[in-house]
Amino acid sequence: MGEWLEGRTLAEKIKEEIGKEVAYYREKIKKVPKLVGILVGDDPASKIYLSTKAKNCERLGISSEIFYLPENTSFNELAKKINKLNKDDEVDGILVQLPLPSHLDTFEVICAISPEKDVDGFHPHNLGKILHNEEGLRACTPLGIIELLKSNNIPLEGTRVVVIGRSLIVGKPLAAMLTNENATVTICHSKTRNLSEVASEADILIVAIGKPAFVTSNFVKEGAVVVDVGVNRVSDRNKIKELFGDNKEKEEQFEKKGYIIIGDVHPEVINKASYLTPVPGGVGPLTVAMLLKNTLKAFKKRNNLE
Ligand code: NAP
Repeated sequence: MGEWLEGRTLAEKIKEEIGKEVAYYREKIKKVPKLVGILVGDDPASKIYLSTKAKNCERLGISSEIFYLPENTSFNELAKKINKLNKDDEVDGILVQLPLPSHLDTFEVICAISPEKDVDGFHPHNLGKILHNEEGLRACTPLGIIELLKSNNIPLEGTRVVVIGRSLIVGKPLAAMLTNENATVTICHSKTRNLSEVASEADILIVAIGKPAFVTSNFVKEGAVVVDVGVNRVSDRNKIKELFGDNKEKEEQFEKKGYIIIGDVHPEVINKASYLTPVPGGVGPLTVAMLLKNTLKAFKKRNNLE
């Protein structure tokens, strides 16, 4: 049986270091980083994500503000708001919470954010910098995954990595970042043939597809490291029982919320992998920590503190 590769402890350590640096700048230059979030519409999950980010900022002494815009906000109205924040010298980081309502073009909205304040790392300028292997603001989830692997001394150089999922926020930037780390990377998606066969060649298998417990043991090479990025709400009691058996903790979570959060990887994989990241408590906490790290980085760059 493998070990759980949890991310909370590392995320706390990173946040503690950020907090210390923020306190230092508060004292030294009487300034702290500021992160602004924009939510268009009232998607409940997005609201929770944004308020978690704001609470984390507060804890570390980072200033934060959230703008709640109505669902029917036009692109021009949103772009005007973003532009104002781009020009605001007090603001170091801008994030527009995704997904956006369908009438808004995500690419156009991301392009409206100044690359130097793009703390999510989704702007084409920052994504392009990955391909050039140049310093820049990197997408938070891929950055967090690499930190987690490195901090557990899991070698990347020369390693065969398979990434399942090719989104712009996880799979694609992650594959490029791992290539920069000298890993040999294969990227898979919904059109990949013989997916389980390809996946089972991986020394490190990373799954970001949004399909609960999709990846089972037959996708995994004996002793592989498996990183589960998926965050899926499951409210089917039978499915929960099928996945976890008589698990008191999961049962209690279900009773409390009416659903539980599970990843894209079947829990049985722990019996075959050397390491598996838990969901929740694996990649998620690192994504938030990396957002705060990017905010500090943007602040330092903008204030010539590097
Ligand atoms: P996304 O934009 O929906 O992309 C999903 C990707 O998975 C696509 O490339 C899709 O392939 C691929 N895919 C879907 N079904 C597949 C299948 N049956 N076989 C192979 N590939 C398949 O998703 P995302 O934004 O990357 O998010 C993925 C998951 O990660 C979600 O559960 C999300 O909630 C979670 N997530 C977690 C964090 C965190 O911090 N923990 C951060 C971001 C995302 P095609 O391109 O061919 O359609």
